[in-house]
Amino acid sequence: MQRLAILGSTGSIGTSTLDVAARHPDRFRVFALTAHQRIDRLFEQCLAFLPEIAVVGDAHGAAELEQKLRAARLNTEVAYGPQALSAVASSSGCDAVVAAIVGGAGLASSLAAARAGKKILLANKEALVMSGALFMRTVAQHGATLLPLDSEHNAIFQCLSTGSCRGTGVERLILTASGGPFLQRELDTLDGVTPEQACKHPNWVMGRKISVDSATMMNKGLETIEARWLFDMPPERIEVLIHPQSVIHSMVAYADQSVLAQLGNPDMRTPIAHAMAYPQRVDSGVAPLDLTRMANLSFHTPDLARFPCLRLGLQVLRDGCTASVTLNAANEIAVDAFLHEKLRFTDIARLVERTLDRLPPLAGSATLEDILAADELARATARQFIAQLPTIRQAAGAVH
Ligand code: NAD
Ligand code: MG
Repeated sequence: MQRLAILGSTGSIGTSTLDVAARHPDRFRVFALTAHQRIDRLFEQCLAFLPEIAVVGDAHGAAELEQKLRAARLNTEVAYGPQALSAVASSSGCDAVVAAIVGGAGLASSLAAARAGKKILLANKEALVMSGALFMRTVAQHGATLLPLDSEHNAIFQCLSTGSCRGTGVERLILTASGGPFLQRELDTLDGVTPEQACKHPNWVMGRKISVDSATMMNKGLETIEARWLFDMPPERIEVLIHPQSVIHSMVAYADQSVLAQLGNPDMRTPIAHAMAYPQRVDSGVAPLDLTRMANLSFHTPDLARFPCLRLGLQVLRDGCTASVTLNAANEIAVDAFLHEKLRFTDIARLVERTLDRLPPLAGSATLEDILAADELARATARQFIAQLPTIRQAAGAVH
């Protein structure tokens, strides 16, 4: 019986994780659930899964949840705030931590799980983008087990004979990308894209932030950085390939030119179930893949002019150290502003590039203090740039 702490349980990944857990009550028990704001949803999850503890964002939310739980005669303990998240992630009450908070907000609790030597099921790619070397060191030092939930990385993990690429004859990692909703859209119409259009992914249903990241392809930039750390792979041996059907979730090319791929319907419950049951296999609830309908699988290299965020992600992959912290922080600010209609879709890349230009990366390896300072500075700088957007657009030669 594995006791799970699901951080970010009300999100897209959190909900899919609970769906898989509910199929196997003999294997998984829910120790903790956490949500930032959606108290109603968290309460429903508490009713269904009876966790020992539930964590919310603030005192107000905690009082609201507490009242609902007591009215329903549930004795789930309620806590709130970032420290409670880290406490849950490192508690002796859980064996595995599902790190499914979105953004840099998930860094502290993911690291806490690593320090406590937990089995970590990592969806929160931003944590690894921000702290890659430090995170992997912490995992190794404390005997934690890191299993990727991101579908591409989970696919690569499945195609590797050991968790790492060193000394195993691996030549290249090939990350596939759907290209998102704007793969074919006229370039000069991207300025007018709305948040709803950007969040309407052709193949996956996901949270709003990662949906925008998929539309800009920043997501694939973040994922190349994620792969670099997860699999200890030199940046120049990680490739991105557009594969609009999202059936092959990624590939590993070996020295003898064998290419191993993992296939499946685009449903996150497959990688989630894989990581939850690893090294065994269990039913995920996903429909079987119908290979007779796979006659038109296609692949091509991405157009970096169409996807400047991917270009920036690949640049940062090579620059290393705090460059990826800056990229991630500026992107979080830009995506949030876009979702609140304070920024155009095409401004996201502009804002991130400006912030990267303004804040050169530290040399060497970053401490946690360096990372947190770089994160804060990049967020503040990106916010300032939002106020100066008309000038920035002009300088970039934008029409409007
Ligand atoms: P989501 O927006 O649907 O859910 C995010 C969860 O995080 C929610 O439970 C929310 O309450 C919580 N949260 C948000 N801000 C928080 C904060 N400041 N403090 C504490 N909790 C907070 O997001 P998602 O799509 O489930 O994605 C979660 C993570 O998984 C992201 O890092 C994303 O990149 C990664 N991921 C998602 C998918 C997918 O299919 N959705 C696929 C691969 C990777
Ligand atoms: Mg992915």
